[in-house]
Amino acid sequence: MAELAPLAPTLSPSGRGSLPFQHLYLHIPFCKHKCGYCDFNAYAGMDRIIPDYVDALERELLSAREQYQFGSLETVYFGGGTPSLLPAELASKLLRLIYSTFDVAPDAEVTLEANPASTDERKVQAWLDGGVNRLSLGVQGFEPRALAVLERRTDAAQATRAFGLARAMGMPNISIDLIYAVPFQSRESWLETLRRGIALGPDHISTYCLTFEEGTLLWRRRAEGRVPEVDPDIQWDQLDAACSALEAAGFARYEVSNWAKPGFESRHNHAYWRCRPVYGAGAGAHSYATDGISSRRWWNVARPRDYTAASEPVADGEDLPPRKAAGEALMLGLRTTEGMAPPDGFDRELQELLAAGLIEREGGRVVPTRRGLDLHNQIALAVL
Ligand code: SF4
Repeated sequence: MAELAPLAPTLSPSGRGSLPFQHLYLHIPFCKHKCGYCDFNAYAGMDRIIPDYVDALERELLSAREQYQFGSLETVYFGGGTPSLLPAELASKLLRLIYSTFDVAPDAEVTLEANPASTDERKVQAWLDGGVNRLSLGVQGFEPRALAVLERRTDAAQATRAFGLARAMGMPNISIDLIYAVPFQSRESWLETLRRGIALGPDHISTYCLTFEEGTLLWRRRAEGRVPEVDPDIQWDQLDAACSALEAAGFARYEVSNWAKPGFESRHNHAYWRCRPVYGAGAGAHSYATDGISSRRWWNVARPRDYTAASEPVADGEDLPPRKAAGEALMLGLRTTEGMAPPDGFDRELQELLAAGLIEREGGRVVPTRRGLDLHNQIALAVL
């Protein structure tokens, strides 16, 4: 574990004091099964340590409350892994601790990521009673073949049932995730996936282009020739199909991979894209603090057992000097259609992006064009 400079009670990257944290992320790293494409910090077969893990999370939150300055929390986000694997009583306990430890704004967005297979009536009730008002449901697809390639152990019936249950019980804001550019997936089957996703009636849809991450089962299968490459033209075509279908259904693309009905953009994710301070608790969770000029990020030990046993969860961190922090802020700001006011010192890069048709000026801001959203990696290369 790397040596870290001691973290001051109020982080002061440039000696001026960090802005208070108003966004809280909690990582729940447990899954029933490791999906073939997944390289997240998520582990199967560790259910037995969940109670100890929740205790450790609570210790970290109480300690963070003492160490750092928190404002009124605008968003709380349970991500994973699979937060819906938490037994109802442990989810309730954790939510109670958050509400009693922090000042959670009355209109805070409180999101929980759920897997359809581990979403049941008791849990949905516990989430609603505990203050969760946004569910992010990992549907990923409906077609058996695509789900099999992804090694997802959920099916269309479970996704439809979980969505219907949460909605019927009063979950006011539901997002679903869908994956495209899956090997063997035709344009028609992707369009059918979009159609079925839209038919559920979500408020928000995230679509992710499948990537083959080194070390995953899917990556090995491709290396062995058991699943084919996906032609980049097919990726573009499927992204284009998503844009048309989702816009026709009343969703606006507000970020590279995200579409929302008006007023349902993810407030928590906006905190990352706007480089707001976010405190991340749990195994492998990242925190980001800034005074608006310089920034610092740090991250916790990744393995749940190490995290649970650690007296100090932080593994390592880095200071971001002003130029690097501004470049990151520009790269992230240009992920969303709101864009940002152009920062000083990036005139040349912005001119190049304007000339390439990747961004445009809108009032006093720079915003990505449709091409810029589709080719955001080129924006990132130019400004980082
Ligand atoms: S459920 Fe999500 S986090 Fe868990 S293994 Fe599958 S893709 Fe990864």
